[in-house]
Amino acid sequence: MAPVNGCKLEDKFDYDLIVIGGGSGGLASSKEAVKYGKRVALIDFVRPTPKGTTWGIGGTCVNVGCIPKKLMHEAALQGEQANELHYYGWTLKNGDEQLVSHGEKANMKFHWDQLVERVQNNIKSSNFKYRVELREKKVNYINAFARFIDRHTVELEDKKGAKRTITGETFIIATGERPRYPSECEGALEHSITSDDLFSLPYNPGKTLVVGASYVALECAGFLNGLGNDVTVMVRSILLRGFDEEMAEKVGLYMSKKGVKFLRPCVPTKIEKLQDGQPGLYRVTASDGIKHNIVGEYNTVLFAIGRDPCTSGIGLEKVGVHVNPKTGKIPTEHERTNVENIYAIGDILEFRAELTPVAIDSGIMLVKRLYANSKETFDYVNIPTTVFTPNEYGCVGLSEEAAIKKYGEDDLEVFHTYFKPFEKGVTEREVDECFAKLICVISENMRVVGFHYLGPNAGEVTQFVALALKFKATKEDFNKVIGIHPTSAELFTNMSITKRSGLSPYPQGCCG
Ligand code: FAD
Ligand code: NAP
Repeated sequence: MAPVNGCKLEDKFDYDLIVIGGGSGGLASSKEAVKYGKRVALIDFVRPTPKGTTWGIGGTCVNVGCIPKKLMHEAALQGEQANELHYYGWTLKNGDEQLVSHGEKANMKFHWDQLVERVQNNIKSSNFKYRVELREKKVNYINAFARFIDRHTVELEDKKGAKRTITGETFIIATGERPRYPSECEGALEHSITSDDLFSLPYNPGKTLVVGASYVALECAGFLNGLGNDVTVMVRSILLRGFDEEMAEKVGLYMSKKGVKFLRPCVPTKIEKLQDGQPGLYRVTASDGIKHNIVGEYNTVLFAIGRDPCTSGIGLEKVGVHVNPKTGKIPTEHERTNVENIYAIGDILEFRAELTPVAIDSGIMLVKRLYANSKETFDYVNIPTTVFTPNEYGCVGLSEEAAIKKYGEDDLEVFHTYFKPFEKGVTEREVDECFAKLICVISENMRVVGFHYLGPNAGEVTQFVALALKFKATKEDFNKVIGIHPTSAELFTNMSITKRSGLSPYPQGCCG
């Protein structure tokens, strides 16, 4: 750029790009921007939860989301598998004493503190890695809370309250979301926790009430139950809103079978402390929406009733960025807000999936459009996802309800089957625990528009089916794929029972 009055035009601002929020989206986009020679600042600050929990750089996913969740999910699965060891000829021994034989539960003791310590060490090593990476890549990481002063200036407030301002030509807001507390439940803020506290909780939560029925609620309920706790889920309406309802109910059925209790429909109205302690004891009063007051006592109450975008108190109104006043979400077109030099990515976007890879990939693509002449835009359609509950539910494309709405029931062929994973053949697992479903559009040459899988390793199974849907694969394409035997995923290469046929979806035998 040509010098202007002895100073380069680019020096008009302290930075070419200021990214606010050091989570999945912010980290990825700031690192991408330095590749194109841009001077980049990444501002990140974690406000403590009402319980005082806080964490380092990396945002929700690595600190209080995907990663600690997956580790705790795995801890629950390991316990479950240990209880199945005897089916495979193993016994657990203590010296000469045989502790587990066929039909008995493994004589194991779970140590919450040990798991939390390992999970937290894993997180801290990621925090460290991110800091080093930012330094090496020359992204200026600033640990401070950012607020817009004008369209090119943000005020930074550090943890000691010291303030300063910096200027930037372009901004990306990637401030993510934080768990919501209910306004209508007395005592909720004082006497409950959220997922932001759970993964570093210094004590085993014990008998737990989980309020909510979506991803976070069911995943936390699933692993807490798997780790040996008495868990109740309080459901306001349906399970996993937005997902295929048949699959969601099967997720719930499996959880019930594993010991999770469900109260539905039900919402809490009051929480009172009965006893201090770690954990303490709380009385929860709840309403079934009709007339009854339901009362229960729990050691821990965990709210997982959704998350609010971190878009208030950061000066967006001052600079004129439109925010949906009801949801706090930012409407964007290709991640651009209504203000020319201000962009937004990740969980704070209106009508976009709140998932880590979405925040990362849309951020990287945005930066490539800004600085590398790219024209490519992020495709928010057919985003695969998996709920780890602990039976895993993976899906991509439309739910059956959404497909019916879009194409009409007559134009759909739905293939379905229960299955028992081959590797579980010697256990007493029942065949109706795992289920698979493919939704095809008849008038479009049986194009597959919905893929649903409830069973082990759903994330691994679902990942590359997303590729098939991207390339508009048909049922025949699925049939032509050679299965890998013996796996659960191979069943999608030869599904033949349709819902319309009325034939039983229970399998007839192994190996075709
Ligand atoms: P975040 O990662 O939330 O980062 C935002 C950052 O900005 C935070 O560090 C925040 O403190 C900071 N910040 C906010 N305001 C300011 C400010 N004014 N100044 C400075 N910094 C600020 N997704 C998946 O894909 N798979 C999963 O398995 C999965 N599991 C999850 C489990 C749980 C329990 C939760 C809660 C979420 C899970 N998610 C999962 C969702 C995933 O974590 C989010 O979609 C992802 O982290 C969003 O990234 P982001 O960059 O938009 O925001
Ligand atoms: P969510 O999807 O917004 O679900 C909120 C849940 O809480 C719903 O079940 C809702 O019930 C219930 N609820 C809302 N207000 C309530 C109230 N006042 N009282 C009782 N129940 C109430 O929120 P989330 O589970 O926190 O997930 C947030 C996002 O994080 C998800 O959209 C997802 O993208 C991401 N995430 C992903 C993963 C993963 O990839 N595995 C895991 C966790 C989170 P109704 O149905 O009645 O509204």
